[in-house]
Amino acid sequence: MQGRIVKALAGFYYVESEGVLYQTRARGNFRKKGQTPYVGDWVDFSADENSEGYILAIHERQNALVRPPIVNIDQAVVIMSAKEPDFNANLLDRFLVLLEHKDIKPLIYISKTDLLEDTQNLSEIASHYQAIGYDFITEMADLLPYLSDCVTVFMGQTGVGKSTLLNKLAPELALATGEISDSLGRGRHTTRAVSLFHVYSGLIADTPGFSALDYEVTTSEDLNQAFPEIKHHSAKCKFRTCTHTHEPACEVKSAVETGQIWQMRYDNYLQLLSEIENRRETYKKTIKRQ
Ligand code: ZN
Repeated sequence: MQGRIVKALAGFYYVESEGVLYQTRARGNFRKKGQTPYVGDWVDFSADENSEGYILAIHERQNALVRPPIVNIDQAVVIMSAKEPDFNANLLDRFLVLLEHKDIKPLIYISKTDLLEDTQNLSEIASHYQAIGYDFITEMADLLPYLSDCVTVFMGQTGVGKSTLLNKLAPELALATGEISDSLGRGRHTTRAVSLFHVYSGLIADTPGFSALDYEVTTSEDLNQAFPEIKHHSAKCKFRTCTHTHEPACEVKSAVETGQIWQMRYDNYLQLLSEIENRRETYKKTIKRQ
């Protein structure tokens, strides 16, 4: 039989197949091969009535997140608050870069817009991200149509109202709301079971502690690919390996000057680039010392 793992807990994998949930275990041969089944995996499994099933094979994965361990994700809702904490384009771009790199479609969701006295600034930010091609959502009702037929995860820093949103979307999850959950910090959640829940004819991951970035963008080439508008313009740069910093005939820099690329995004790109370069320098020094 075939199905999808929707929950992993204490060595058991709960596989859903045609609306029925099967309790299974992974055979020892997975451990020998160094494979671990994860929530979101499509699997072949055996299941007899009245007895525990076994996972026989794991299908190829579309993508994978490390923390929480979940695979085959279609999209991620990046929750940013308009206020308390203030909207942070740098953090948003970090999430977007991670998602682009993982081939997970980002949706930008702005919470706490009711705390804004003036929405002019937010509208401007929205238009910049929409121009790149990102959906920018400020109402929960507008988010719902995106959820159907997709596996969706939610990301966001502490205090943006992630648990509150999840609870509104799926009250049955009965997550600890807001400040209580957030104040416990991320360590507390690592022991939680990861589960997928049916919500609005889609599946959402119950991952309230998800705020960490498992940062895997380690080269300037990957960073270039993770900024869609920079990637687009970089095709016309004189040098194929252009980092859009000091090189002559750089189309990206021209596009920043003419306003086709938003200065804020370019600044965030430069910051991430220098972080990548610093990490590589540190790595080289460490290797030399050994
Ligand atoms: Zn360039």
